[in-house]
Amino acid sequence: MRDEQLPHKLQKEIIMLGAIIGDIVGSRFEFNNTHRSDFELFHKDCSFTDDTICTVAIADAILRKCSYQESLLRCCRSYPNPMGGYGGRFAQWIHSNNPQPYNSFGNGSAMRVSPVAWAFDNLDDVLAEAEKTALPTHNHPEGIKGAKAVAHAIWILRNGGTNVDLSNILHDYYPNFSLDNLQRGKFDETCMGTVTLALYMVCMAESFEDAIRNAVAWGGDSDTIAAIVGSIAEARWGVPWLFGEKAMSYLPKSMQSVIHLIYTGI
Ligand SMILES: [Mg+2]
Repeated sequence: MRDEQLPHKLQKEIIMLGAIIGDIVGSRFEFNNTHRSDFELFHKDCSFTDDTICTVAIADAILRKCSYQESLLRCCRSYPNPMGGYGGRFAQWIHSNNPQPYNSFGNGSAMRVSPVAWAFDNLDDVLAEAEKTALPTHNHPEGIKGAKAVAHAIWILRNGGTNVDLSNILHDYYPNFSLDNLQRGKFDETCMGTVTLALYMVCMAESFEDAIRNAVAWGGDSDTIAAIVGSIAEARWGVPWLFGEKAMSYLPKSMQSVIHLIYTGI
């Protein structure tokens, strides 16, 4: 693929590793929660899970200029049994002969959206593409909103936004947000629960690593919380180089090549 065929930002920016790092670091805690934050980040028991596969699928759709649905189906069918598996209805969707959206408001739309916030420069385009990434499965208004809120947050931070901007996004998208609704350790797989938590956590964090550690130590759906937090935190602080290298070492060659294409634009 020639450089000029790629969206501008894909040739320059470090993207989407934040989500992948969060997913890998959080993977071993999804069904074995920890409330400590001093754990080993890249443990031998870590693996990539559905959050990484779907994020890579979105990036690959942008690279190949194919539909998000086609790319999600291709990538997920290539990795049918990731650590932790897929959500029940998403698994059915993957294997359906005629996949149809199923009105989900699960956090799957929010965990996979990050590449579009880097690939497109204009906010209207970012939000329109975020909606398109959700629609194949998460066509419930809250599923779409979760994807748009995360993409909006990444976009604003990569354009110099501050904590105030992030807080405004949290309250604009979720006017009923209250700290009282966030329960440590609760397994809440909804967009409303996970996206509000992720936005709040990045607001409260001091660094990329701090954000990831706090996300995992929150408990609940730890790999997906950490993936969404990582995707937003990346836009705020960037990703420590060593973290990126470590995360890449957990990925199969096909995923590494998508990421290399995005880095190099070759
Ligand atoms: Mg997962």
